[in-house]
Amino acid sequence: MDKLIITAAVSGSAPTKQQNPNVPYTPEEIANEALAAWRAGAAIAHIHVRDPETGVPVTRLDLFQEVTERIRSESDLIINLSTSGFHLDGPDADEVRLLPLEAKPDLCSLDVGSLNFRGGVFINRADWVERAAQRIRDAGVKPEIEVFDLGHIRQARHLIENGLVDGPPWLQLCLGISWGIEATVESLLAMRQRLPDNALWSVLAPAAAQLPITTHAMLMGGHVRVGFEDNLYLEQGVKADSNAQFVERTVSIARSLLREVASCEEAREILGLSPYPSRQTSR
Ligand code: ZN
Repeated sequence: MDKLIITAAVSGSAPTKQQNPNVPYTPEEIANEALAAWRAGAAIAHIHVRDPETGVPVTRLDLFQEVTERIRSESDLIINLSTSGFHLDGPDADEVRLLPLEAKPDLCSLDVGSLNFRGGVFINRADWVERAAQRIRDAGVKPEIEVFDLGHIRQARHLIENGLVDGPPWLQLCLGISWGIEATVESLLAMRQRLPDNALWSVLAPAAAQLPITTHAMLMGGHVRVGFEDNLYLEQGVKADSNAQFVERTVSIARSLLREVASCEEAREILGLSPYPSRQTSR
């Protein structure tokens, strides 16, 4: 098995300070959460940005750039910026979604398939997905293909087969999100079975499903994502103080299972990313 790559999804677009006061909004708060997660063992930080005052999700290049610069000045964390445009509206939404590419991340999310989501529809039109995959490739960024259901894996395979994604493909299996596939071991097995042979994969699951699903994935050779985007509680009634607490728990479980945890440098090698252009502080 490869060493375990832990992603910390530190901010997300939905959690609020009302739900957990430790949810980061400002670029400084988001970067500090990512850096704490890195010190705890995360190799990747998955980033959404928020209006610094209100916490409303936004797609603003200046905020993405500030978070990226703050993280890179202190660490060798692999940076994954979100291209989710769920909060965007209007004729230029498709283009605005790709703005994070200009902040030159290592990875960016690429949602394939559409689904009923948060009382609406998360729309990822087939033509947009193909165009976005091409743009991401042209920008020299590796996509993290987010799949919420089995049909989305079919679409991911189609992109890969058409040369729109360079190998090895990296997929985030999103289980238990309403209304995608359930967060069960059966679902996880069904998803894994359908992956391309050389795919690298990670799992996420929300709230109480996070711990069991990520633990199963670790045993199956997959990688994992934890953090505030998916879960605000360490256990019932106990709010997490930071994203780092989820990472610490994941590292501890991995050690118990004798699964080694990848450093950022090792994760870069596994993912086929190029090394950092300049020497950064490494963990
Ligand atoms: Zn996200």
